[in-house]
Amino acid sequence: MSKSLQAIRGMNDILPEQTPLWRYFEGTVARLLDNYGYRQIRMPIVEFTELFKRSIGEVTDIVEKEMYTFDDRNGDSLTLRPEGTAACVRAVLEHGITGGGQVQKLWYIGPMFRHERPQKGRYRQFHQIGLEVFNLDGPDIDAELIVMTWRLWGELGLRDAVKLELNSLGTSESRGRYREALVEFLSAHLDKLDEDSQRRLKTNPLRVLDTKNADTQAILADAPKMADYLDDESRAHFEGLKARLDAVGIPYVINPKLVRGLDYYSKTVFEWVTDKLGAQGTVCAGGRYDGLVEQMGGKPTPGVGFAMGIERLVLMLEALDKVPEELSRQVDVYLCAFGEAAELAALSLSERIRDQLPNLRLQINAGAGSFKSQFKKADKSGALYALILGDDELAQQVVGFKPLRGQGEQQSIAWDALAAHLATCVVQG
Ligand code: ATP
Ligand code: MG
Repeated sequence: MSKSLQAIRGMNDILPEQTPLWRYFEGTVARLLDNYGYRQIRMPIVEFTELFKRSIGEVTDIVEKEMYTFDDRNGDSLTLRPEGTAACVRAVLEHGITGGGQVQKLWYIGPMFRHERPQKGRYRQFHQIGLEVFNLDGPDIDAELIVMTWRLWGELGLRDAVKLELNSLGTSESRGRYREALVEFLSAHLDKLDEDSQRRLKTNPLRVLDTKNADTQAILADAPKMADYLDDESRAHFEGLKARLDAVGIPYVINPKLVRGLDYYSKTVFEWVTDKLGAQGTVCAGGRYDGLVEQMGGKPTPGVGFAMGIERLVLMLEALDKVPEELSRQVDVYLCAFGEAAELAALSLSERIRDQLPNLRLQINAGAGSFKSQFKKADKSGALYALILGDDELAQQVVGFKPLRGQGEQQSIAWDALAAHLATCVVQG
């Protein structure tokens, strides 16, 4: 196929075989967030480029090299959103729903776009579920975010496969002091740093901390520690968070080098990581961003949030064999009709049954093919039962009721009794 008729590299179709698992995952998260009192918000996929530059920061990987940016027909520079926080902050400001100090607990889901090198777990269009909380500044809410994800891992059967890493970046003042100390230290070792780190030292020195280069890592072993520069307030906040995680029994490790790639964080940052996905190990990441709303023109408004990558979590469910058994069956009952009159009867019968059993997954296949080929299709559909409606059944106003998974013999059931019978033998989720 010519290249222009193929999907863009790193942008994937999610095929019908995969969507049940996606919907299971998304549904599980949505239910959980509903239960904790979070409300969904939906933002556009495209925003002014300036929004992302101002919020994410000019010297970050995302803004420097990962954004899909283009001029529209008016000459405005627009960008496909690389993440959700910027747009969410824009939206709450635009609609004035945080300006009076109102608490907002919001979540969103959807595609994000980053021009990265595609590989397993890393794509150019990928999907996140994210959430943002505004106007709550205590460690209790940071803890709530983590507790919710912990519950999610529990529901999905992933608890043993993920690890929580935590750090505190302090306030922008204490971070500034630490940055100075770090720059002074690293400058003294400038010639021994890898090239990337030399560049970051000038543009975004904290990012040197998450270098993958072993030599630079060795130098960093003696670098000043962020924890020693934390202001009292941030320290107390961090202790408050840890106490709450301890109270719930959530294990964590402190990772003093966790800085996150975006400029807007302060105080708490965290990542849930796994070793089950190779290099793409972060499945959920976030933190506090108390300065961001003000930086974007609003009143000072504390904020905290996270985002999780759906592709990586779906990959994990598959890799760890945590795909629920019932997802393999998308049809409960498969109705086969033979002959024109029976076909008409089958349609109205199936509609009557749907009225009575709105959750029944009933597929109807009329006309085409012999008994044998219809049964093959019924079997392949994964259905538990086939219903047969031919001329004989039509005359007697019954259907043949045939168990497909070894649950007994075929029997004849009157149309009027069919819904009640199905209700007893098909367990509906
Ligand atoms: P990474 O270090 O893997 O590049 P990140 O720090 O850039 O991740 P965030 O901006 O924090 O990622 O996004 C939150 C989550 O979204 C990540 O933890 C990951 O699960 C997912 N994610 C980020 N970028 C991609 C991508 N290109 N493809 C798939 N998932 C992604
Ligand atoms: Mg990244």
